[in-house]
Order: sequence, then structure tokens, then C-alpha cells
Amino acid sequence: MASIEMRNIVKQYGDGFPAVNDVSLDIADGEFMILVGPSGCGKSTLLRMIVGLEDITSGDMVIGGKRVNDLAPRDRNLSMVFQNYALYPHMTVFENIAFPLRLSKMPDDEVRRRVTEASDVLELKEHLDRKPANLSGGQRQRVAMGRAIVRQAEAFLFDEPLSNLDAKLRGQMRTEISRLQRRLGITTVYVTHDQTEAMTLGDRVCVLRKGKIQQVASPRELYEQPVNLFVAGFIGSPPMNFLPATPRGDRLETPFGDIALDQKRAAAVAGHELLLVGIRPEYFEDASLVDEAKRPVGSIFKARVDVTEWLGDSQFAYIPYEAPESIQQHLRELSRELDSEELRTQAIVSIDATSRIREGREAEFWLDSRKVHVFDPETGENLT
Ligand code: ATP
Repeated sequence: MASIEMRNIVKQYGDGFPAVNDVSLDIADGEFMILVGPSGCGKSTLLRMIVGLEDITSGDMVIGGKRVNDLAPRDRNLSMVFQNYALYPHMTVFENIAFPLRLSKMPDDEVRRRVTEASDVLELKEHLDRKPANLSGGQRQRVAMGRAIVRQAEAFLFDEPLSNLDAKLRGQMRTEISRLQRRLGITTVYVTHDQTEAMTLGDRVCVLRKGKIQQVASPRELYEQPVNLFVAGFIGSPPMNFLPATPRGDRLETPFGDIALDQKRAAAVAGHELLLVGIRPEYFEDASLVDEAKRPVGSIFKARVDVTEWLGDSQFAYIPYEAPESIQQHLRELSRELDSEELRTQAIVSIDATSRIREGREAEFWLDSRKVHVFDPETGENLT
């Protein structure tokens, strides 16, 4: 196993702007790192440069302490797990796992020993004589990983391995990959555009935009402390609400009422005119259901509810609002870039399933003011 260090990595195709633009990232030995971002952000290119399938324009790629820029893929001892697992249909599970060892002309008894060991770890022992067609999706995934283990690869690399599967199977495979990675403790780099995969699988997540790193952090930190509008809008489903907000001393005026700011937030927004306040749907509660003790740390929003959606354990309420044209323009750009239709000028509120709020009526929501984020709409920076 090995650490992967990237130092100022650049990939330039032709003379447009770089597909990967000065990326420096350290992946620790045994770590599960996710590369995530919308289509075209450069995540596959970065992965292909780690494996050696793509030349590096400038910068250093260091694997296990060794600079590998000029090493051919086969000499990097990494294992790429493909979307379709690349299993040979006419070979048994045993032979599929043994394949890389056969290629290296390893003696028979050593091949047998290694395949048996891998199939033990992967719980494939009973299936060694089967063909891939007679395996479940999860078992096929394990065979693909078995190949990587027998080779004693330094790291696993995944490029959107679940994108062809239906939602249910995707969920199962996610759990499977996560369990295996933890059990094997092999350094893993996993590319996806799916924020759910990013949030549930990785130790850390690297969010990319137009070839540049936006933030590298644990899933929790990304969710709770996004550094900018892009990360805030990308992570979370339904997405964070962005409302126009004007600072007035220790308060922020918004279309639904004022938000009280603590000292830190008030200082951060001082001197600004029009801002965007970021509020996750679950920061709201139905005001009539909030404990008296909690009320003072929050703000009250009054709004007319357009549509509600009841989900059993919670419900969503949709609240349209007007935003100045300059703000609408920022939101349109962001939703285009994130390919998210939901970032329109309506707020989404997630509240308790027992709430009696009604469509078409005024409702009062309590908002936990300690959690709101305030963004500069021009730079996208999170000021809080
Ligand atoms: P997706 O999720 O759509 O695969 P991605 O984030 O993996 O996107 P890349 O495939 O890494 O993005 O592409 C990054 C940028 O580099 C894109 O603008 C893409 O058009 C460009 N690009 C990728 N491969 C080539 C190539 N062989 N020649 C020219 N441009 C390329």
C-alpha cells in the first residue's frame, strides 16, 4: 500500500484552459479519497494521470514516496476497477482473480495460495468455480477487487464504478465497496459526480471545479463548513437555500424576515451590501413545534407555503420568493454549473411530519440562526 502525493499537477489539452489546473493533494496510506465535481471538472483526467493513462503536463505525481511521472501504467502497480468490472465471461471466478498472476507467469501453487487468500477475505470461496454471469452485481464487484488484491496493488482506483446501475443496486454496492475498503485498508481513489456517493464512501472528499480544487475535507466538514457557494450548492440534497440578504448591524434582512447574527457573523458581513444567506432545508422548524427554551437562539420566518410534500418521516414545504436581478443571475449561473434545477428562487424547508402547515397559507418557521452561512455573491466566498 502507498500514499499518493500530487504536487502542482497540470493537464493541458490543446490551448484551452487546463483540464486540471495546479492540483496539489496528499492521499494518505490506506485513505479512501473521493474526487467529485460536475461533468468536465477534470476528475477523470486526474485519476488517469495517477494510473499513468494520461501524460502529466507539469507537476509531480509521487506514489509510495517515488516520483512516477515517467513510469508506464504497468510499472505503477495500481489497480483500476472499471465500471463493468472487466471480467472475462468464459473464465471462472478463480481464473478471473488469478488472471494478473498468470500474466506474470507465477508458479501454480503460489497462484492457488494467493487466490484462496483473496477469496477468503472477499467471501467468494464458495463461488470460485462459477462464471461471472452466475454472480450478483456485488459478487462481480468483489471478483474485480480480488484481482487487485492478488496483485498486491498499492492502491485501488475507481472511475464512476456504479453509474450504470439502478438506484437500489447502487446503494447495495456502495455499502459493499465501503465495507471492503475498510477491511482491506487499501489506499483508494474514487471518482464520482454523485454527491451521495461522495458523502457516504470517503474518509475525505476533494471537490473539483473547472480543474481546480475547491475544498478537501471530511464529508461532515464539507456539509457544515463549505468554503464557497459552489461547494455549498453541490453538497446536500435537497440543496442549500440561497436567499438575498442585506446586512443591518447585527441582523440580516431577507424576504421572509430578519435573521439575528451572532458577533462573529455580524463582523464578517459588515461593509457588504447585498449578500446571499445559505440555509439548509433542515435548519428550519415549524415555529409552533419549537421548544420555548430554543426560541431565543433562532429567528422567525413568515412565509406563504406554495406546495408541501409529505415523506412519511418529514415533509418539505416550497416557498417562492422574489430576488433582485443580480442575485437571480448568480443563482442561474450556479444552477447551470451544478446542473441543479432546484436552485431556483424558491426556498425548500424540511420540517417535522407532524407539522400542520398548509399549502396556500401563511406559516411561521423557526430558523436556527447559529447555523446560517453568508456568501459574497460576487466571489462566492463563505464569509462566516
Ligand atoms: P465527466 O464526469 O463528464 O467524465 P470529468 O470531470 O471526469 O467529467 P474530464 O473527463 O477529466 O472531466 O475532462 C476535463 C476536461 O478536459 C473537459 O473539459 C474535457 O472536455 C477535457 N478533455 C478530457 N479529455 C480530453 C482529450 N483527450 N482531449 C481534449 N480535451 C479533453
